[in-house]
Amino acid sequence: MEIAIIAHDGKKEDIVKFLIKNREVLQQEKINFIATGTTGGRAEAAGFKTRRMLSGPLGGDAQIAGRVAEGKTQMVLFFKDPLSSHPHEADVNMLIRVCDVHNVPLATNEATAQLLIDAIAQQS
Ligand code: PGA
Repeated sequence: MEIAIIAHDGKKEDIVKFLIKNREVLQQEKINFIATGTTGGRAEAAGFKTRRMLSGPLGGDAQIAGRVAEGKTQMVLFFKDPLSSHPHEADVNMLIRVCDVHNVPLATNEATAQLLIDAIAQQS
């Protein structure tokens, strides 16, 4: 299962803490991570192997949307920062739309992400 992780700058600390908190579930053999560039770097520093795409503002969200459309990514955890604006808002909205088109689970906040990870834990 491929899980995409993305966090806006104001949420990068939170996503790393979230990954660490859920390490036991997330470091199973069957889970692979892809990430936007900077988020991926932070996740790797915390010990999570990730396939890194471009940074979000340079097209990383769009690359992940492409993988969702191709059926290669099965879940997206996107810690959005609703309190700041982003130059790549169009790409972010495109990723959300593509997840909806392909019925791929997408969490845009930590509480929803936790529910998705809890669901994976129950299946294991
Ligand atoms: P980043 O991109 O992980 O490269 O910072 C995230 C985003 O803002 O979409």
